[in-house]
Amino acid sequence: KVKPAYEPLNELTVLDVIKPLNFFNSASLNNLVVQEIGDGNLNLVFRVQDSDSQKALIVKQALPYAKVVGESWPLTLDRARIESDALLQEAESVPHLVPKVYYSDSHLAVTVMEDLSDHVILRKGLIEGNTYPLLAKDIGTFAANTAFYSSDFYLHPFDKKEKVKRFSNPELCKITEDLVFTDPFFDHDTNEFPAELKSSVEKIWSDQELLREVAQLRFSFLTRAEILLHGDLHTGSIFVKEDSTKVIDPEFAFYGPAGFDLAHFFANLTLNHLSQNAHTKEPFHRESVQSFLLQTIEKTWETYTNTFTELWREKSSDPFVKTEGVLENFLQHTFQEAIGFAGCEVIRRTIGLAHVVDLDSIEQKDIELFYKKKALELGSYLIKNQRKFTSITQLTNWIRGA
Ligand code: ADP
Ligand code: MG
Ligand code: MG
Ligand code: MG
Repeated sequence: KVKPAYEPLNELTVLDVIKPLNFFNSASLNNLVVQEIGDGNLNLVFRVQDSDSQKALIVKQALPYAKVVGESWPLTLDRARIESDALLQEAESVPHLVPKVYYSDSHLAVTVMEDLSDHVILRKGLIEGNTYPLLAKDIGTFAANTAFYSSDFYLHPFDKKEKVKRFSNPELCKITEDLVFTDPFFDHDTNEFPAELKSSVEKIWSDQELLREVAQLRFSFLTRAEILLHGDLHTGSIFVKEDSTKVIDPEFAFYGPAGFDLAHFFANLTLNHLSQNAHTKEPFHRESVQSFLLQTIEKTWETYTNTFTELWREKSSDPFVKTEGVLENFLQHTFQEAIGFAGCEVIRRTIGLAHVVDLDSIEQKDIELFYKKKALELGSYLIKNQRKFTSITQLTNWIRGA
């Protein structure tokens, strides 16, 4: 049978994809309700639900261009293959922390997966002032397991290099190379910020010490194929509820520097921390949300190092990898580079393309500007002083102080 040519799905044709899967019983096929629910920048997301049993699934399809910009920005469909493949990889070590993949088709650029509509997107939950007790432990566990099992601490060098090839993701990496590590640091037309921030931004553009560090971080991103990264681990890629955490949307997955994912998580919690000063008016509530955010950063890093160390102790066999000091050096380098990457992400989300709604939704203009300036100062500080950080509480103290 000839494979159908790629075509963007719609509410009707999506049924042709799911019918052969026998997910819904055949009697209910006439009761299926389809809705496009995507709120992301790049892809179509359909929810298909049986109106009788309430059973549902998700069909995510990549478009041959970036939805946020339009057809003038073509983007490879191969990212759908990467996404479903990364979800399957992650499920090998942390199946409880990712959506189940029911089916994928690289031809149609489609991933059919578990419906998580009983969860909320973490960014939204945090802006509303909610806290999630499992978050730190779950993200630390996710990051440590996906890192260790994809790294040279665990894999045979042949298998590792095979995976580096499989997760080669040049076009999506280029988006990060440009939007995170380049454009915000120059007067580039993708940048977006109010005129009142111009002098703060020009300070960044003319800071040679800062630019040198950013160039070094960008070089790391380009060259250090250490672990299989999620690649886009901001608070919009995490689904949460009281008793569950799920990491979604790994279409940016590739082999990169180990500190990168945690940095994005920390940076987005930091931006939310700043925005809480405006969003959560009641002082006791604000204090408790902000201390939750800082504790989450601390506990995530603790969980990460403890879990990674335990895996290293139990599952690494190569004698060089087991040499005294190798693990400690890896963790220290990962930590300090994460501080630098986090600084880049904080700056990018404030003045580059694709802001965070945490700061953008601050209603009073002068307060929004005040916290955006704080974000730029904090981001610059983290980038320039990354190697001075020796403990996670030093980081959370700086965030608290900002
Ligand atoms: P994009 O790559 O376009 O950002 P995402 O994978 O982040 O797409 O999904 C966009 C939105 O679609 C999510 O914010 C969420 O609201 C919804 N969504 C995605 N996956 C699921 C899922 N498994 N269950 C329920 N909703 C989902
Ligand atoms: Mg997304
Ligand atoms: Mg995405
Ligand atoms: Mg605004």
